[in-house]
Amino acid sequence: MAQAPHKPLPKKVHIKTFGCQMNSYDSERMAEALEPEGYALTGDPAEADLVILNTCHIREKAAEKVYSELGRMRLAKERRRQEGRGTLIAVAGCVAQAEGTEIIARAPAVDIVVGPQSYHRLAFLVAEAWATGNGQLATDFPAEDKFAHLPERPQGKAQASAFVTVQEGCDKFCTFCVVPYTRGAEFSRAPAEIVAEVERLAARGVREITLLGQNVNAYHGAGPDGRPWTLAKLLRRLAQISSIDRLRYTTSHPLDMNDELIQLFDDEPKLMPYLHLPFQAGSDRILKAMNRKHTASDYEAVIRRVREVRPDIALSTDIIVGFPGETDRDFEATLALAARIRFAQAFTFKYSARPGTPAASLEPHVPDDVKRERLYAVQSLIDGDRHAFDRATVGRRLEVLFEGPGRKPGQIAGRSPYLQAVHVEGPKGLIGQIGVVDILASSPNSLTGVIKSGFEWREPAQAAV
Ligand code: SF4
Repeated sequence: MAQAPHKPLPKKVHIKTFGCQMNSYDSERMAEALEPEGYALTGDPAEADLVILNTCHIREKAAEKVYSELGRMRLAKERRRQEGRGTLIAVAGCVAQAEGTEIIARAPAVDIVVGPQSYHRLAFLVAEAWATGNGQLATDFPAEDKFAHLPERPQGKAQASAFVTVQEGCDKFCTFCVVPYTRGAEFSRAPAEIVAEVERLAARGVREITLLGQNVNAYHGAGPDGRPWTLAKLLRRLAQISSIDRLRYTTSHPLDMNDELIQLFDDEPKLMPYLHLPFQAGSDRILKAMNRKHTASDYEAVIRRVREVRPDIALSTDIIVGFPGETDRDFEATLALAARIRFAQAFTFKYSARPGTPAASLEPHVPDDVKRERLYAVQSLIDGDRHAFDRATVGRRLEVLFEGPGRKPGQIAGRSPYLQAVHVEGPKGLIGQIGVVDILASSPNSLTGVIKSGFEWREPAQAAV
């Protein structure tokens, strides 16, 4: 473990985030937790007194990538030491949780290892590391709710769209997945706490909220009377916040797509017509080996019900190719299922073993060149369907939430209700607002359009909620 560095002033923190939206949310909350301690964010790791790597365990060789990043950081830390400046290095996220003390043993420049359930202790761990020079490790799954101990979200300028974690962990135990081990058992935040957080975001000008959870549609936070709320009930309550115009949620499991939640796509206009619902594989044999607890036809039945209530919905999914034992026939079932459903979007992965998961010991392995071919085939199919979905919106008039400047000068960019990127010519003053756009063309990664002439910008119903 590193020698005691001197506590420097002023203090800057650099956070490098890997992986999913939940990690982005966690990084924001970590920055907010450190703000009262005087830490300001910097994009330049060389000027940071504290560098945090917020890691992800999903990708192949995730831990090895973290160690090579830590090698570079050790050199930067040494350079700063020679200039008389101290630096703390912290590893957070799922690799921190999975590797724990192994990180400290292999990378002695690391001062803090903090798992995703312990971020409310981060400011304390940082202060301890500065004061004592001793390494700090916090990777338990505390019984207490970390969200109750994180500081309230500060006021200030915010983006148009924000993530809010409402549920963490997972009890499904898919055999390929590390989440049940790195994020622990399913835990849902109380609705009152979530409503308060969304109200504060709304008061900062946020117009769209995406509720996050590893298994978000299993949400069951305890209401004021102690009885659990469903995700549908939570969404209905959040929709009552007048200046929130759009709601989304991700990631869902097919088994937890109940009728109440599906019906909301029709009943609640603020719930956007977009659903990310992983199916992973189209062969029942492989789904069983993955412990997905559903068959291909169960999945299709859910999609049928969703499309009955919201025929225009944009569907997104996750697909794994090359799971141990996957034959050509199994893979064809995956292709066939994807072809029948016609996704507007999909995240496709080659299977790679995560140490400690049941699938890591399954055989036979699928050779890498076969996995590559299968990945290419499924990506080609998905790309075709995605472009077809995008082309079908050309000529339509869509509401777009503008989130930032576009690629070209004079352009601004936003998202359609279907989560498509949309570029238009328009003044930067419209960022953060919802406009009506006539869609003129689709290109491989975005749509272009024109702001409907004579359109009056829709302000939130109230300045604050
Ligand atoms: S449902 Fe999702 S998070 Fe849970 S174990 Fe399966 S893949 Fe992992």
